[in-house]
Amino acid sequence: MKAPMALALHGGAGVLTRAKLNAGAEREHRAALRTALDHGWGILRAGGSALDAIEAVTCDLEDCPLFNAGRGAVYTLAGTHEMDAAVMCGRDSRVGAVAGVTAVRNPISLARAVMERSGAVLLAGRGAEAFASECGFSTEPPAYFHTDARREQLERARRAGRTAVDHDGMEEKYGTVGAVALDASGNLAAATSTGGITNKRPGRVGDSPVPGAGTYADNNTCAVSCTGEGEAFLRCCAAHEVAARMRHGGAVLTAAAEAVIHTVLPGKGGLIAVDRSGAVALPFNTEGMFRAWRSTKETEGVAIFRDA
Ligand code: ASP
Repeated sequence: MKAPMALALHGGAGVLTRAKLNAGAEREHRAALRTALDHGWGILRAGGSALDAIEAVTCDLEDCPLFNAGRGAVYTLAGTHEMDAAVMCGRDSRVGAVAGVTAVRNPISLARAVMERSGAVLLAGRGAEAFASECGFSTEPPAYFHTDARREQLERARRAGRTAVDHDGMEEKYGTVGAVALDASGNLAAATSTGGITNKRPGRVGDSPVPGAGTYADNNTCAVSCTGEGEAFLRCCAAHEVAARMRHGGAVLTAAAEAVIHTVLPGKGGLIAVDRSGAVALPFNTEGMFRAWRSTKETEGVAIFRDA
């Protein structure tokens, strides 16, 4: 029998209601998700590692201005961009993360470099940027990360005097990105990358770069990437909670993932997860979640809303 493989990715939870996401925007989002899925699946099918697949998928989504990560990241209160990212390897619990980086084109690749070359787990702010330049990472001027849509979102949030935690049915969507994979060698890996939340206080760090909160992988259980109100995911160590329910409670992937999103999480959001059998779980408690998945268990799809 062929070794199972699986890949799932997300472009954020929250999303506009179906009535408010116009047909053109819907098509563009679906096409971007499909392209990233096919790219990652090609890597897995060619015998590539789960780590390579999730990094490539996340870079694609970071480079796409539709999503809140890399190009297209949301604005802080100060009108700047501060991006967070993490990768984790299920085989040996290696993990690397960056927080509050402002100029690195692909924060997820920097997170991987932190894991592989820095001796640290999490580098923040200026130290992360210095490490990036030591490693020769390409940086971009602020204009590269700018999109009109995100700037307007900031202006609206400023007028309303709030951070745009819009997973609660407000009009704006999120677009944090993430990917999880199982490769043919049985290794699991997870990645998450984000601009955070609109109008956030400079220095605010969400769940995405925090191992066990927004990102987690362990070959004995699952790989998880979260999206939603970061503070809620941080409070309940959401990604690790999925794995813990499997390891200690004997739960299967879907039950563990659904329980975390629907009964444990003290807020709004969703997650994507795969396990070593190739099972995929994609629960969310928002209007929708941009997502795509494929597995040798013969399921595949691209979806935004509850009913696809
Ligand atoms: N979880 C991210 C954060 O709080 C935001 C998101 O998923 O959209 O930074």
